[in-house]
Amino acid sequence: MQQSNPAARRALTHDIVIVGGGLVGASLGCALAPLIERYGWRVAIIESAPMAANPQETTWQPSFDARASAIAEGSAQRFQQLGVWEAMRTEATPIKHIHISERGRLGATRLSANELGVAALGHVIPNAWMGRVLHQRLSQLPLEWHCPAKVEQLTPIAGGHHLALSDGSQLTAGLTVLADGGRSGLKEQLGIGSRREPYKQTALIAHVGISQPHQGIAYERFTQQGPMALLPLPGQAMELVWTHPSGSEHAHMALPEREFLLQLQRAFGDRVGRFTRVGSRHTYPLSLVTAEEPVRSGLAVLGNAAHALHPVAGQGFNLALRGVMDLVEALEQGELAKRPLGDMSTLLAFEKQRSRDRANVIRFSDGLVRLFGLSFPLLPHARAAGLIGLNLIGPLRRGLARRAMGLER
Ligand SMILES: Cc1cc2nc3c(=O)[nH]c(=O)nc-3n(C[C@H](O)[C@H](O)[C@H](O)COP(=O)(O)OP(=O)(O)OC[C@H]3O[C@@H](n4cnc5c(N)ncnc54)[C@H](O)[C@@H]3O)c2cc1C
Repeated sequence: MQQSNPAARRALTHDIVIVGGGLVGASLGCALAPLIERYGWRVAIIESAPMAANPQETTWQPSFDARASAIAEGSAQRFQQLGVWEAMRTEATPIKHIHISERGRLGATRLSANELGVAALGHVIPNAWMGRVLHQRLSQLPLEWHCPAKVEQLTPIAGGHHLALSDGSQLTAGLTVLADGGRSGLKEQLGIGSRREPYKQTALIAHVGISQPHQGIAYERFTQQGPMALLPLPGQAMELVWTHPSGSEHAHMALPEREFLLQLQRAFGDRVGRFTRVGSRHTYPLSLVTAEEPVRSGLAVLGNAAHALHPVAGQGFNLALRGVMDLVEALEQGELAKRPLGDMSTLLAFEKQRSRDRANVIRFSDGLVRLFGLSFPLLPHARAAGLIGLNLIGPLRRGLARRAMGLER
């Protein structure tokens, strides 16, 4: 039961509590800024990992090893709305072209910013820099920041949820947003299940040095072992996302640098010249995970907690950011209709909007993985024909580009 009158609302310590101050929770905090100002909402973010109290005071040191993400042009526009794009772009490398190919086949598809009349198809930004910029913005906003503090217990109460924190704080909120990455066990505490389909693939991530300029090209290459991506970084460096059948990544993790670079060269070819260097290597087992109940009365699940995707098309955070913006829009509509913040009709309207976008993105990225993972005798020829065909058929290719840019839902 949701509180619909001001007295009931005041009985709660907060209007909104965001669990998790990662990329998604922090983006939501920033996106709520105008509404906090307009409606006086009391908002708190709880983050369990220790973070700098004032990110402005610590110096930023770009690192060869920091993980980076492909941020679609649509997400850049959303960051602009949040007032953080000017700062984000200082460490962003524009993607001018995307080159999609299949190893050992002729077909290739090329997407180009010029042809589509945009300055960039997307941007590659270190995750640590995105986090820092978002946290800097949060530090200027009138919201509570509990960090480091972990939400240990989340319990439904009349009108919302009760949250017990590891620092001893007890909060109550009309709307709780789970942006905890999905591994904290809070969904399970509430009995919210997840559908999990392991890809039986593991992504090996590292920064690599290359012997020639990348010219702003992002590469997506499908191999028999799984897809590989190379994303442009400042200078002659790229972020490598190399998918392996699970188990086989151990061999590449253990190789000395020289051997690793040779194997990489063999798998990727020489489109970016020679691989000259590799930074620290990290692995991520890959599954398609979706929360079975992304909304409940007084509760919304966002980001990785709601959906974890294969990174093949770099869509996870981009999809989540659209969720952040849709949630804020739905909350404002609910407020204008004088509904309580965690009202189910508000959250169902939000979920209706989300489910279509989520299904489309999952179909797109999951479909890519499965199409290129299959090995029927004639399929490689069909795929090559598909890639060549896609290159020739302008509108289809432009559709693919618009989706990659996060401009299409
Ligand atoms: C290999 C790989 C490459 C990727 N590349 C891309 C890409 O190029 N483009 C793209 O769009 N997406 C990409 N993604 C997806 C993207 O990384 C995720 O969508 C994004 O990181 C999700 O952020 P999040 O805030 O939901 O979760 P997280 O980043 O996991 O943040 C969750 C936060 O919640 C905190 N927390 C957890 N439990 C609690 C608790 N109980 N109390 C308080 N705090 C808690 C954690 O400390 C953490 O800070 C990639 C993913 C992978 C695995």
